[in-house]
Amino acid sequence: MYISSMCYGRKVFHQQECRFVKRIKKKNRLYFQDIAAARKGGFRFCNCCSPMTRKYRKERPKIKKIIEDNGLKVQVFDNTLLINNNGVNWKIVLSEDKTKAILLYHANTESNYGLKRVEGHLQFNYHYQRGTENLKCIKHLLEYIIAHDDWRMGTLNSYRTMSRKSKKKRKAYKRARRKARRIAATRVINLLEELDYEDRTRRI
Ligand SMILES: [Zn+2]
Repeated sequence: MYISSMCYGRKVFHQQECRFVKRIKKKNRLYFQDIAAARKGGFRFCNCCSPMTRKYRKERPKIKKIIEDNGLKVQVFDNTLLINNNGVNWKIVLSEDKTKAILLYHANTESNYGLKRVEGHLQFNYHYQRGTENLKCIKHLLEYIIAHDDWRMGTLNSYRTMSRKSKKKRKAYKRARRKARRIAATRVINLLEELDYEDRTRRI
């Protein structure tokens, strides 16, 4: 059984044992048989009692150092863990079907179409990161993310060592350089966009 309140401005629901449930008067309670029923009504999990929050809390002692050492920004939203690694955005999602899989998504850094903010969160064009199906815990996924982004930065800068001896090679060099610059610019835009948002929310 999952519970929400008729008095909420936002569509948020809780697990029965969440501390926020106690604050909802009995007559104002909305009940859902299962997660799927709540989702159907357009509700999202409370950030305090979502399964992702629980998983994150459980793993926190193990991943605290990784987060600090790499300057990751990590935030739970609904059943999702939002991760920002120096301007590159990722998310880890707990699936709510029978598979109970933990899924990794990567936001496109090469093309940055229409950033939107949904309930205070930037939305990017995420794609499922293939080849990560066997990673079952947050720690391993964070390690994957860091390794992936380090490698990506390395490959992006590799244009510097490309040969420019023929016309064809010069063309390839220019293309690679353009791509690297575009990605670097997108990272900066993402960072600025977030700083700007944080600044505005602080003022409110
Ligand atoms: Zn809750």
